[in-house]
Amino acid sequence: MNPDRPIADAQELLSDSQNITALDRTSRALDAAERLNPALNAFLQIDRAGALRAAQEYDSRNARDNGATSLAGTPVAIKDNICVRGLQASCGSHILENYHPPYDATAIARLRRAGGIIIGKTNCDEFAMGSSNENSAFGAVRNPWNTELVPGGSSGGSAATVAARITPVALGSETGGSVRQPAALCGIVGFKPTYGRISRYGLVAFGSSLDQIGIFGLNVKDVANVLVAIAGRDELDATSADVPVPDYAESLTKEITGARIGVPRALFGEGLDEEVRRKVESAIDVYRDLGAEVVDVELPHSRYAIAVYYIIATAEASSNLARYDGVRYGLRAEEAATLSDMYRHTREHGFGAEVKRRIMLGTYVLSSGYYEAYYRKAQQVRQLLREDFRRAFESCDAILTPTTPTTAFPLGAKTDDPLAMYLNDIYTCTANLVGIPGISVPCGLSSENLPIGMQLVGKHWGEETLLQLAHAYTEAQPFTELPPVST
Ligand code: GLN
Repeated sequence: MNPDRPIADAQELLSDSQNITALDRTSRALDAAERLNPALNAFLQIDRAGALRAAQEYDSRNARDNGATSLAGTPVAIKDNICVRGLQASCGSHILENYHPPYDATAIARLRRAGGIIIGKTNCDEFAMGSSNENSAFGAVRNPWNTELVPGGSSGGSAATVAARITPVALGSETGGSVRQPAALCGIVGFKPTYGRISRYGLVAFGSSLDQIGIFGLNVKDVANVLVAIAGRDELDATSADVPVPDYAESLTKEITGARIGVPRALFGEGLDEEVRRKVESAIDVYRDLGAEVVDVELPHSRYAIAVYYIIATAEASSNLARYDGVRYGLRAEEAATLSDMYRHTREHGFGAEVKRRIMLGTYVLSSGYYEAYYRKAQQVRQLLREDFRRAFESCDAILTPTTPTTAFPLGAKTDDPLAMYLNDIYTCTANLVGIPGISVPCGLSSENLPIGMQLVGKHWGEETLLQLAHAYTEAQPFTELPPVST
């Protein structure tokens, strides 16, 4: 059995044959992770012993109950800001370097119940703040398509893991695009659900009104299967919604004839790489050929999205990160004479430059005298963005744009220019601000052999339609190219 096979195949094979075991798949995934990690730096921890044990347990349970569960003993990689009992949860930060949560995030507990086998924790930008993975305290992740390039961020380790075929699926997190953006740059599928669709219990908080766990996969069906397994109301997260979870994987193959795809032409102009534009425009043609209707939509406030996002996300981060004070857990500076010195030294040594920048920005926009000018104003514009989308969705079922303005860029190219880095989120961060679901799907390669992603965003709780539309595209235009590093 090839461990790189998508879950969908594995399920069929599992029901056909008793010879394909979770143990077999898991040990191959572990071997691949250990072999490729020196080149990719995608994993911060590989849990060989725990994963093999879980796989064995799965196999014996399966033999006893005589039936595979939906995830069928599939190896999964988890971003290091999602709590897995007993494994580290550094969030890519020195301040949590030695933190081992004593509990599973709800998504993890559900993943295990469905037969997912966790093989390790993946590298990410510190506290998920970044678009290139270069903000990790443990070194940048490298893109499997070209190890001189970034994989995108902040869930770059999970994206690189799936792109390199180490695991067929992985979990990441999204605050402003951190699953869709690296998925696009690594040539895989990346999905962010409606806010409230997946419990945030056990996801380390960055911007609580924006954060969601997201899913990476090699195909839409696998993503849908994982979503079914982990979505739904959770008493441990008051923001998780009590909305029924349809069988997204079952309904994928529905005809899309007559579906309406909205295209905001104004977003296809300035700042967008020419090759990316052309590939995404061909994706629009594919939808036309599939019988969808393409309509123009307008999102007039989109040009403010980056500014609004970087006010709200930093404000919420400055508040959430106040808990890392060296008192209860994580790093504690030793040589401090007073309590406030201890706070100061701990935070000074524990946080990296980007996290400090965000805490300062966030504290500033919330401070007396600036609150009205920045934070309140940003919330008002956020409401206008919600209105833009509500209106646009009156005439379409999903909105299609590029996922990123460019293909993967060289390591170091934007590290000295935070604004240039922030602009990577231009197409993705609105979905987080508005709370709607989004998916990035590979739509071709550039002349330099780098993947290009197109994005679809849908209505609140419109995952079913969104996944159907994405699936229809990938069936019509399968993306079969492999990154060099996985071979
Ligand atoms: N790149 C964005 C940021 O730096 C988004 C991060 C994320 O989605 N976690 O904040």
